[in-house]
Amino acid sequence: MTTDAVTVRVPGKINLGLFVGPLREDGYHELSTVFHAVSLFDHVTVQPADDWSVHVTGPFADRVPTDGSNLAMVAARTLAARRQRRATVPPVRIDIDKQIPVAGGMAGGSADAAAALVACRELWTLDHIENELLETMAASLGSDVPFLLHGGTAIGSGRGEQITPVLARGELHWVLWAGEGLTLSTPAVYVELDRLREERGTEVGAPEPPGDLLTALRRMDTDAVAATLHNDLQEAAVSLHPILAEVLEAGQELGARGGVVSGSGPTVAFLVGSQAQAIDLSVGLAANGPTGEILRAMGPVPGTQLVHRVGQG
Ligand code: ATP
Repeated sequence: MTTDAVTVRVPGKINLGLFVGPLREDGYHELSTVFHAVSLFDHVTVQPADDWSVHVTGPFADRVPTDGSNLAMVAARTLAARRQRRATVPPVRIDIDKQIPVAGGMAGGSADAAAALVACRELWTLDHIENELLETMAASLGSDVPFLLHGGTAIGSGRGEQITPVLARGELHWVLWAGEGLTLSTPAVYVELDRLREERGTEVGAPEPPGDLLTALRRMDTDAVAATLHNDLQEAAVSLHPILAEVLEAGQELGARGGVVSGSGPTVAFLVGSQAQAIDLSVGLAANGPTGEILRAMGPVPGTQLVHRVGQG
């Protein structure tokens, strides 16, 4: 059977804990993070075409590049280069339905890269590319890409690309605040963190996985998870966009159990106790909080999943 089109679904992530160690010689910081995949999904469809192209739809489409710098395209071409040692693969048209906020610290670009790897492996029937090799390719594309293949809740170490699943029972309910048109570049946030640390003479040791957060997740004790949410990049993100301090405060006042900037920001994730509380908080934030897009999600959810394959026998 030849496959005409493959559609894959991929979630966004938030970081429940993010601990940043010293700057390494390769320019990355050593990290210990707890990734958590949430139910905001991009859908990525690939199909054979005469030429390589990317087309993006959805509420954040205008902020996504459609040239060769799109991470889904970079991922597809990386896989194609691997394949071409055996035989040529046709170029693909990539369609992205973008629901994950862009440049918001939710790793939407990395998510699309993970999705493109899985979709193209299926389209090109590259059965010899095992998951392990796909993960190595994912890590070469970006630090968050391996986690988005896995999903769930997991510790990321190294620069975030080494994944260890975490036992987390039950569901967590989230309200996400994404500032309209508000973005942060990840490198700029790390530079700001280094600047703040240098200014204060902060000594930085090797980052450790957060035991108290992991225990709270194992028990799925929402209040304990809320109390242990932590992000070393938060202060730097707030320093670059002071409105984030107002957002965090507004969420707490309106009943969130806890709140944290996701990754390098500026998306803010608020933890609540139930779906009903998520509705209450999102209504409250929309009416009384700083202007922004308010989204609801739950986690953990699975990583990249095949949802549709169209073929001809
Ligand atoms: P990071 O993974 O660095 O934390 P982020 O989650 O903050 O990133 P992304 O949504 O991945 O941000 O977007 C970062 C930049 O990547 C965008 O500004 C955009 O120019 C570029 N980009 C390339 N491909 C994509 C894609 N498929 N989706 C979104 N952004 C993309």
